[in-house]
Amino acid sequence: MFQPATERQISYITALQTRAGIPAGVPTSLTTSEASALIQKLKGEVTPVAFTTPAPLVAEGVYRRSADGAMFRVQTSRDSGNRYAKLLLVGGGWGYEKGAIYTLKADERLSVAELSAWGLTTGVCAICGKLLSTAESVARGIGPVCASRY
Ligand SMILES: [Zn+2]
Repeated sequence: MFQPATERQISYITALQTRAGIPAGVPTSLTTSEASALIQKLKGEVTPVAFTTPAPLVAEGVYRRSADGAMFRVQTSRDSGNRYAKLLLVGGGWGYEKGAIYTLKADERLSVAELSAWGLTTGVCAICGKLLSTAESVARGIGPVCASRY
């Protein structure tokens, strides 16, 4: 006895065909068992949508983005607990760049020696963004408070 494919099977087949990128269409002579066999076959052709997990955020510290040399300090907000990056301005102080933390890579994190070298050329403490004022700080490239902490 001929058992035609159900409405549900037909709409499911059409949906799978569309997702698999093949022209949708179901022969009217399709039986229930043929329809379920076709569904199994189509399921194998539909590639599941890949889940893209966001890359983990970089650790706290000072980073120099290799693409443009921009300096960022990565820190965690005490209020929200969110980690973010603020842009270190060459003249001292901080700027803002939307989504900057997502542009930084772990290997762009600077060591104390690199921070010191940056401070020596710019006269700004790379950790707190303040201008180096004392002769000792200028010679070290890092401000006194940051030197004791970092
Ligand atoms: Zn400092």
